[in-house]
Amino acid sequence: MGYDEFYRQSVEEPERFWGEQARLIHWEVPPQQILDASKLPFRRWFVGGTTNLCYNAVDRHLADRAEQLALVAISTETGRTDEVTYRELHREVNRFAAVLKSLGVGKGDRVVIYMPNMAEAVYAMLACARIGAIHSVVFGGFASHNLALRIDDAEPKLLICADAGMRGGKVIPYKPLVDAALAEAKAPPPHVLIVSRGLDKDMRRVEGRDLDYATLRDQFMDAEVPVTWLESNEPSYLLYTSGTTGKPKGIQRDVGGYAVAMAMSTRMVFDIGPGQVMFSTSDVGWAVGHSYNVYGPLIVGATSLLYEGLPTNPDPGIWWRLCEQYKVRTMFSSPTGIRVLKKQDASWLKCADLSSLKWLFLAGEPLDEPTAHWITEGLGVPVIDNYWQTETGWPALTLMPGLELKPVKWGSPGLPAPGYRMKVINEVTGQEAAPGEKGVLVIEPPLPPGCLTTVWRDDQRYIASYFSHFKELLYSSLDWAIRDADGYTNILGRTDDVINVAGHRLGTREIEESVATHSAVAEAAVVGVKDELKGQVPVVFATLKQGVTATSEDAARGMQQAVTEQLGAVARPARIYVVNALPKTRSGKLLRRSLQALAQDTDPGDLSTLDDPNALEEVRKALQRGPDLGS
Ligand code: ATP
Ligand code: MG
Repeated sequence: MGYDEFYRQSVEEPERFWGEQARLIHWEVPPQQILDASKLPFRRWFVGGTTNLCYNAVDRHLADRAEQLALVAISTETGRTDEVTYRELHREVNRFAAVLKSLGVGKGDRVVIYMPNMAEAVYAMLACARIGAIHSVVFGGFASHNLALRIDDAEPKLLICADAGMRGGKVIPYKPLVDAALAEAKAPPPHVLIVSRGLDKDMRRVEGRDLDYATLRDQFMDAEVPVTWLESNEPSYLLYTSGTTGKPKGIQRDVGGYAVAMAMSTRMVFDIGPGQVMFSTSDVGWAVGHSYNVYGPLIVGATSLLYEGLPTNPDPGIWWRLCEQYKVRTMFSSPTGIRVLKKQDASWLKCADLSSLKWLFLAGEPLDEPTAHWITEGLGVPVIDNYWQTETGWPALTLMPGLELKPVKWGSPGLPAPGYRMKVINEVTGQEAAPGEKGVLVIEPPLPPGCLTTVWRDDQRYIASYFSHFKELLYSSLDWAIRDADGYTNILGRTDDVINVAGHRLGTREIEESVATHSAVAEAAVVGVKDELKGQVPVVFATLKQGVTATSEDAARGMQQAVTEQLGAVARPARIYVVNALPKTRSGKLLRRSLQALAQDTDPGDLSTLDDPNALEEVRKALQRGPDLGS
């Protein structure tokens, strides 16, 4: 079956289609009803079926692939590599689960996990899943205030943390951040379980509250913890959105629907089956990390590579050497990750034997054409842009090489994934936009399996945030999109990232793309800044590639010329600042909101998701110094 027929069945006969896909996983009790859509926008998949994510990810593979690698956790920061077989994974998860139970954690209890990309983070997640506890992984390195917000929202029974993370050779102690968060939180858990790697030599422990994982693990070396079977629609985990545009929401995922979506998408989208190797460079704390570093590859019996470190350390060839060493078939990263490499010499892409590598998937942000072009040429494998949100949990727009590779069109994440009834509609009339016409990307409910079931303890916020934007009951992605005659969709940026220049509405993304076509540019961010005459004007912040010899002023002039030629004089940037770094969230998304505030001299707002404070300082300095072009 090709993509067209597969997709058609998924949306026209959803119950038959998903009933079929449900066979990809183990059900302790089979579902009684495939879909209950009687209370839209809520819906329940695989009603009455009972299953368990940990059982599907671990136990189920013991019969056929106990000695196969399940997880390879590589840290170029600590120099440690853990190669973990399914048998060993099963052992470690049982030990972890036994420790959790000994601390009184049980079904429905929340557990906050605050750890970097290390094997124990995966054990902790799977151990929670095994006993029916709800994990909420908070990206390690989020500031304590952010952690406190998430603690208060989830009210966990336990917090599990590492003693420290590392970044670029520098130890970042987590424990002081945890202590500060717990001091701030209104609902601190009674215990903190510390997985120490001995990185923070001065770590302080609070007597009675703080426990050492290694000591407890020793007591449960041979523990067998039975799987807790859960009804398909019970919560499996919470994951907060990145907060690029505002206060993060606790995205709630189910058990059965998510397991089925993982089993299907890992195979059909990412082309990964039993025994094959997938390398996702994401952090476990993000949606991609949950789905394609942990649950997806393990549910299909594949090997998952987990990486702690920079893409450029010890040198920019590290990812590709890992691909060679572990015979990676599918690699998954982000446009930001690739743009970091693009600042380096392209010859690094040729430093390893990549004959096993078949696909590079990129997601999280718009993939600009110059970057797509550079990496496709450099690697010689298809590069597949895919679009999703924390909310969806798996790609909503993508190509599906595991099923049939449709032609790649640069600039577009492709076609709707199975089960997603996508439309592009006019934001005022709600009418479907014609091909080539810009509108808002929406999904007609019921949302497919795997997508959020609600916002944690806040059904009203689920409805208000996503389903209240149009007369019809539609899930709004809050992203602009445009569809071509073949159904390929381009994402034009967020509905709140629009610049209004003298009545013309311009997407920041279009201008960024245009700026990035200039050969000196590594990365660009465009924001709308208040202007007395025109309402708003586009202002550009750009970083240059390493080794560029042109002056900032010349480069800026080239950028302005590119925009004027490609988009016309309305889009012409009023000011261009060349900077050394751009402010981003820890997930690699540009913080346009903060850039805009700084450029307008207003309050940059909540900066706690900021990755590198220096980047913001750079921008402040540039603003003081004045633009490289314009005035
Ligand atoms: P918040 O919702 O809290 O503001 P966020 O939207 O940044 O945070 P995520 O769920 O991590 O949090 O990001 C999803 C968004 O990322 C999408 O809505 C879209 O704007 C962008 N995005 C993801 N993948 C792509 C892609 N392939 N092309 C273009 N944009 C993408
Ligand atoms: Mg969002």
